[in-house]
Amino acid sequence: MDTIYTVIKGDHTDEEQIRRAGDILKAGGLVAFPTETVYGLGGDALNPDSSKKIYAAKGRPSDNPLIVHICRWEDIYRVAEEVTEEAGRLAEAFWPGPLTMILKKKDTVPAETTGGLDTVAVRFPSHPVARRLIEAAGGFVAAPSANSSGKPSPTMAEYVAEDMNGRIDMILDGGAVGIGLESTIVDVSGHKPTILRPGYVTQEMLEKVLGEVSVDRTILDGSTAQRPKAPGMKYRHYAPKGELSIVEGDPEAVVERINSLCACAAAGGKKTGIIATDETFSRYKAASVKSVGSRGDEEAIARSLYRILREFDDEEIEVMYTESFPAYGMGQAIMNRLLKAAGHRIIRV
Ligand code: AMP
Ligand code: MG
Repeated sequence: MDTIYTVIKGDHTDEEQIRRAGDILKAGGLVAFPTETVYGLGGDALNPDSSKKIYAAKGRPSDNPLIVHICRWEDIYRVAEEVTEEAGRLAEAFWPGPLTMILKKKDTVPAETTGGLDTVAVRFPSHPVARRLIEAAGGFVAAPSANSSGKPSPTMAEYVAEDMNGRIDMILDGGAVGIGLESTIVDVSGHKPTILRPGYVTQEMLEKVLGEVSVDRTILDGSTAQRPKAPGMKYRHYAPKGELSIVEGDPEAVVERINSLCACAAAGGKKTGIIATDETFSRYKAASVKSVGSRGDEEAIARSLYRILREFDDEEIEVMYTESFPAYGMGQAIMNRLLKAAGHRIIRV
């Protein structure tokens, strides 16, 4: 299959491109598009064949459900059976935006889209291209991140092309995304609201609207035998090709340990990489040292993390070390993704 690659400006000049992409989705094809979080791989959420194609293109296990994207709040009633009071309050506070809600599903949503679950994940994105595309496609677009399963989610269309060229019908290149980590997923299907995947919308922000919100403990704890409630979180994820470890502890000791670990790996013939911060960047020695941004700037860290992991892949880095970050606020999402990328390998100094 030839994949159409088109740069989209996001203004009135791109109407023809959006219409064409919408037609592809309506006809059961796949289109990758920018959202405010990461690039999504879209298919018609109400068409079981489209969902099957998404799993095939990504190499994604079919028990890992897809998020249904809508472009009008009231469309939630077409896919969710019971829209709880909590869901209404969260939508008012955070939609359109980087928040996904889990609710009981309606029969209109095929089992292929929800990985056989009786719940459905719904999100109303804020990115103008995403919203217009969903509308052009008829209102319901299933869209997981547009990467091959297991790899870091794409924050630029170039990375989508790397993984999806020849496998999907079209890629809309709307430039680099703003947030860089996937949406927060919160289960509001009945019992106590629970965060299944942390993201830009933090626990603190959700609690301001709902009162106490629980967190699925598998998010940061690799030692528990409990299964994550979001099926996708059990898989190896966001992972670079080489081996990444997180080094945690006193900042001075972390710099020293990372340098000695890298020296050791290099002596063993391995190509090494370090994820540093602006504050420590100049103190590290490795084949490739990259800063995720200033330690205090969580938004910058979120935005650059996946790009750096992909760059390490391009540079064929075999052994990587990263500093650790405080796991509160958006740091919860950053550490969750780093822990997954590192397969929960932590070195405490
Ligand atoms: P992605 O779109 O690639 O970010 O992946 C979607 C994430 O949403 C995966 O981790 C899924 O397991 C999770 N998800 C989707 N639908 C549900 C659901 N009904 N219940 C729990 N988690 C879900
Ligand atoms: Mg994904």
